[in-house]
Amino acid sequence: MSHHSCDVLIVGGGMVGLCLAHQLLERKITSSITVLDKEPGLGRHSSGRNSGVLHAGLYYKPGSVKARVCVGGARRLRAWVQERGLPMNACGKVIVPPKLELDAQLDVLAERGTANGATVEFLDETQLRHLIPEARSASGRALWSPNTAVVKPLDVVIRLEQELREQGVSFVKGCSGWKAKPKCRELLLADGGSINYSHVINCAGLQADRVAYPFGVGHQYTLLPFKGLYWQLKANCPIQPRTNLYPVPDLNVPFLGVHFTPSADTTPIVSIGPTATPAFGRENYRGLQAIEPGMAAKNIGLLARQYLNNRGGFRRYVHEQAFLTLPPLLIRAAQELIPAVRPNNIELSQKVGIRSQLFNRQTERLEDDFLCIPGPSSTHVLNAISPAFTASFALADLIIDQALPVLNLG
Ligand SMILES: Cc1cc2nc3c(=O)[nH]c(=O)nc-3n(C[C@H](O)[C@H](O)[C@H](O)COP(=O)(O)OP(=O)(O)OC[C@H]3O[C@@H](n4cnc5c(N)ncnc54)[C@H](O)[C@@H]3O)c2cc1C
Repeated sequence: MSHHSCDVLIVGGGMVGLCLAHQLLERKITSSITVLDKEPGLGRHSSGRNSGVLHAGLYYKPGSVKARVCVGGARRLRAWVQERGLPMNACGKVIVPPKLELDAQLDVLAERGTANGATVEFLDETQLRHLIPEARSASGRALWSPNTAVVKPLDVVIRLEQELREQGVSFVKGCSGWKAKPKCRELLLADGGSINYSHVINCAGLQADRVAYPFGVGHQYTLLPFKGLYWQLKANCPIQPRTNLYPVPDLNVPFLGVHFTPSADTTPIVSIGPTATPAFGRENYRGLQAIEPGMAAKNIGLLARQYLNNRGGFRRYVHEQAFLTLPPLLIRAAQELIPAVRPNNIELSQKVGIRSQLFNRQTERLEDDFLCIPGPSSTHVLNAISPAFTASFALADLIIDQALPVLNLG
């Protein structure tokens, strides 16, 4: 049992929480920082289980929080990774329309990318073939994003934790079952200990809505987790794209579609995925162990209503993406990008992640943007979905700027 106090308590030691600690130190706001995580090791959820793609900022509506933080965040994370000599593959990304009617979306992405400060170029069929000889574009056109890169996300998390610890940040790990007492600015720990704080920042990813509720925050949101399974090209597959290959996404839903991603290091592993299938437990990565039957039943109801209402074009998502865990459908999606891929070229990967996607009960839609909501002596980061990993340094600055006027430190 221990009693502990700090200026800023960060709940959740994923990439967002760690970058917040980094920026609080870097900007000399406070060095009295504690990071609390329920797991005994960091990187066990989204930050250690994602594709590791540093997005270049093409997808996001200009003016959205995602658009404001993605390009700058990617530049900073790239430099941070390079300075430390961690694995990074600066291989760029190609986006192709798998169907002719999606060709015009390339113009939308190019406009958004340019408005967001990203570099984008159009490619013709010859240029596309030069980058990935086996790739196919339904219209012959493609977009090229030279500044997209791939890193190893778990390496980044582990190194960041190590550096923060060396700079005096306290870590309390393996600590679940605590209770918030917002009026006393205190967390009561399950072992009878406590943590007092001046300000708490909730970066609890898949659990962030549950952490927010006792602070009176976020009651209109509920988490709708979507699982991302990955396949990979077998080592003996003759096709091994050397750059990211993505389809034009459905911009109505926050999923990018199944894509090919080369490895960050010299291992010749090309991932295919992730899928975006409704998950029946927030942390149900494998089997049925972590299924939450109550949540699953409620979410099936929500999904069915979304389908019937077709809000935000939800039916298209269901038809095109919800069932991609089935190998024949996954192969078909992969073949839309590279027709020569055959079922015997791919194998299931060990990697799997679950997105902390929020559903807004008032608008009856999936939330698209990051949410950073103030509460009593607290800030709650909700819906930290992709590209929160890419953007984390810049997102941390934005969260701090928002909280700064109400930070009551020391
Ligand atoms: C399949 C998949 C692929 C993705 N691909 C990309 C990509 O290529 N590029 C990109 O930029 N983004 C990608 N993302 C998104 C990215 O991974 C997340 O946006 C980012 O990691 C969010 O970081 P976080 O710190 O908010 O959450 P997390 O990494 O989930 O961290 C939250 C932490 O909070 C802790 N926690 C939870 N509840 C409690 C509690 N009650 N008490 C204490 N601690 C708690 C957890 O243990 C966890 O360590 C992907 C996500 C998924 C799922």
